[in-house]
Amino acid sequence: MWIDTHCHLDAAEFDADRDAVAAAAHAAGVSRIVIPAVGRENFAVVRALAHRTAGAVYALGIHPLYTPQAHDEDLEVLRREVEASLADPRFVGIGEIGLDYFVAGLDPARQQHFYDAQLRLAREFGLPAICHVRKSQDQVLKGLRRNGVTSGIAHAFNGSFQQARAFIDQGMHLGFGGNVTFERALQIRRLAEQLPLEAIVMETDAPDISPAWLYRKRNTPDQVPGIGAVLAGLRGLSVGELALGTTANAAAALPRLALSSA
Ligand SMILES: [Zn+2]
Repeated sequence: MWIDTHCHLDAAEFDADRDAVAAAAHAAGVSRIVIPAVGRENFAVVRALAHRTAGAVYALGIHPLYTPQAHDEDLEVLRREVEASLADPRFVGIGEIGLDYFVAGLDPARQQHFYDAQLRLAREFGLPAICHVRKSQDQVLKGLRRNGVTSGIAHAFNGSFQQARAFIDQGMHLGFGGNVTFERALQIRRLAEQLPLEAIVMETDAPDISPAWLYRKRNTPDQVPGIGAVLAGLRGLSVGELALGTTANAAAALPRLALSSA
């Protein structure tokens, strides 16, 4: 059994064959899929999709790339939606939230405003945060510390060993996906090889971050076992050991996964 801890199954890239993509993942042994929201517009969409897809769960949040069009009022909507979702076993946390210092044209102060407000929500409701971290490792970590958020996932993690350890010390898990399948991704491969297994969760970020064998093609959640096989090889583990370990880690990172079944 595998868990894809980060999959945008609601993305338009899956409009033509979404159910088949979910079924293929299930057939490949990916029995849980976490679908994070990106903004107020898709809160209801990810919830409905998680409910009609076997093994799927959802998170609610405003993604840093969606902060230009987000309004302060969206934070109030988010609070109400989170409160209403606490009774929903398919709701697992706050996300996708974070900071992106790579994409041009995003206002850092505005991103920080939405990130902090959502971390306060995570703290208030005792929920894990699923974080987007892009050229922003130190600032994302500072936000977690400042707001007392001590669980969740730093998704598509790419940083130094020191930064990875600081996230782990804060209680976070680190998400690894298609990037580890590229032989030239030396730093990510070193992290995936040497960090404690307990810190690692699997993800695809589908339809993005495809593995090497799907280069420039659409990524899908059924790729988790193939990506896991590469990661297992790097660590000298059997694929079964890696599947078992990372599944347990995902359950630790997102405790509400236990409320619903595959
Ligand atoms: Zn994402």
